[in-house]
Amino acid sequence: MARSRKYSTAFIDEAKIHEWLKKTGNPEPARVREVIAKAREAQGLSPEETAVLLQVEDDELLAEIFAAAREVKERIYGRRVVIFAPLYLSNYCINSCTYCGYRRRNQEITRRKLSQEEIAEQTRILIDMGHKRVAIEAGEDPRMAPIEYILESIATIYRTTSGRNSIRRVNVNIAATTVEEYRLLKEADIGTYILFQETYHRETYRRVHPAGPKADYDWHTTAMHRAMEAGIGDVSVGVLFGLYDYRFEVLALLLHAAELERVFGAGPHAVSVPRLREAAGVDLNNFPYLLSNRDFRKVVAIIRLALPYAGLILSTREKPEDRDELIALGVSQMSAGSCTGVGGYRRPGGEEKAVEERTEQFTVHDNRSHDEVVRSICRVGYLPSYCTACYRSGRTGPDFMRLAKPGRIQELCLHNAILTFKEYLLDYASPQTRAIGEEVIAQQLSTIADEKLRLLTQERLQRIEAGERDIYF
Ligand code: SAM
Ligand code: SF4
Repeated sequence: MARSRKYSTAFIDEAKIHEWLKKTGNPEPARVREVIAKAREAQGLSPEETAVLLQVEDDELLAEIFAAAREVKERIYGRRVVIFAPLYLSNYCINSCTYCGYRRRNQEITRRKLSQEEIAEQTRILIDMGHKRVAIEAGEDPRMAPIEYILESIATIYRTTSGRNSIRRVNVNIAATTVEEYRLLKEADIGTYILFQETYHRETYRRVHPAGPKADYDWHTTAMHRAMEAGIGDVSVGVLFGLYDYRFEVLALLLHAAELERVFGAGPHAVSVPRLREAAGVDLNNFPYLLSNRDFRKVVAIIRLALPYAGLILSTREKPEDRDELIALGVSQMSAGSCTGVGGYRRPGGEEKAVEERTEQFTVHDNRSHDEVVRSICRVGYLPSYCTACYRSGRTGPDFMRLAKPGRIQELCLHNAILTFKEYLLDYASPQTRAIGEEVIAQQLSTIADEKLRLLTQERLQRIEAGERDIYF
């Protein structure tokens, strides 16, 4: 694969990041409060302002940052939380990422790649759990999982139905590739292209990626440029928190977002905040930058304030009790009922494999079922959403941001969230989840200020009860 060097990584200015961190060390409370006041306007923060917040260690000031994040999250996203599930296609990998269970030389896992029939079956199981969005995941292996395999798998997922339902949006998390291959993904109708930077710190990046195509920092760091050049409007970036100093990483992530906005007119559609977890053959004692829960909450709150219009994605790497709190601080999308093994989804009561295989990438910390996660989101007063309307109506990249920034999209999102959640409650929820879910819908309906829209939502809810599906703006 010829690697074009059209884009530079000069935008990750390490010297500048260190300078911001040095300049803002131990900030005056008055300066911190000034930045918090600016953050509450929900217009985002500059890297230097963000650095001020990242330096805060005082409990009282930290509580004020959390309060501001809750306020901004509520204003921009209301109480919606978008739900998705990962679908692992293949764990063959030619890279050597020191933190990952899939790395090439790891003998502790069984290598597996799903056939198209198996993908259809996994998809049916996910549909029958009530999912509408999946994120496909694969190790990097041009021989075992080439782009043709990924494209065929996407087509299989979109084509698969169970009853009258199907997966409506396939997001893709595969290794950095060429503009030509990103064009093929775009043509395959993917939702978001997801790629985690892992670490923006060049020296750490080199150390944790000792071999394989992913070792090329410049190629990896400019992947989103190539994806956007290929016409993929929604890209999702992320840091694997725990590899290097989280303060450095958050500032570098902001530089990345600003660079994409400068070149392509839209920053990342979403930011993921995976945290390093135990994995087969990975000793966490070798990673000195692991984050405490307190640091991690701080990171989530500060990203929410610095990039108010980017979705914030949380996975089942986090424990149930932490996930509820993190939603309030700014998370807008989360995975539920996840399995990080290849072919790991099973029907309730289905037979376990005769031979115990270990195929998962890392350890999941939230083992609740999809229905249990949905119920607990409702219990804390939030509204699970299965909406895929923007992507299906072509509202991506700059078009999405044009609607989102003046706040014009919020009531439509709420309307679509209510309708898709109603479908979930009718088609898949347990009786307990349905009961509490109906309360959340009633409560959220009452917050739609525009009377015409509220009545329209009520009328559509009745149509869904009468059996119609997939109605959206
Ligand atoms: N192989 C592709 C790649 O590396 O970009 C696709 C995605 S990989 C299956 C998904 C992500 O899992 C990686 O980007 C990495 O951040 C994350 N991951 C790997 N090992 C992990 C661990 N031990 N704990 C938490 N996340 C991990
Ligand atoms: Fe392979 Fe991705 Fe794991 Fe690295 S993080 S070893 S590229 S699956």
